[in-house]
Amino acid sequence: MKIMKKRTHGTDAVMNGKLHGATDQTDYFYFFCPKCPKNHMLRVLDYSINHEEPGNRYNDTLKSKAPRSFVIAFDLYCEQCGLRDCVKVSNVGWQDGQHAKALGKP
Ligand SMILES: [Zn+2]
Repeated sequence: MKIMKKRTHGTDAVMNGKLHGATDQTDYFYFFCPKCPKNHMLRVLDYSINHEEPGNRYNDTLKSKAPRSFVIAFDLYCEQCGLRDCVKVSNVGWQDGQHAKALGKP
C-alpha cells in the first residue's frame, strides 16, 4: 500500500483517539475526517494485510477465541480537505477493557 511505504503509523491527526467513525444504515463502517466539521467521511483508497498468522496470544486469557492474528491497514483520504492518512485494525494489540487503557491512561 503506497502510503504505508512512507510511514508505519498514521499522523498526529489520527493518533491518540482523534480518529472516529460509525456505521451507516447497515453494517458498513466509515471513518470521519479528524480535520473537517460535521463528521465528513473519509474515502478508503486501499488496504493491506500487514500481518497474518494462525492463533492469537490472547486466546489463553480471554473468553473469546480468535482463529488468527492479523493487522489490516487502511489508506484514508478526505475529498474535502485533502487529508491523507492511515489507520490499522488488528487483534494483536489491546483486546479487552476500556478505551482509556488503550490510550495509556490509568
Ligand atoms: Zn477533511
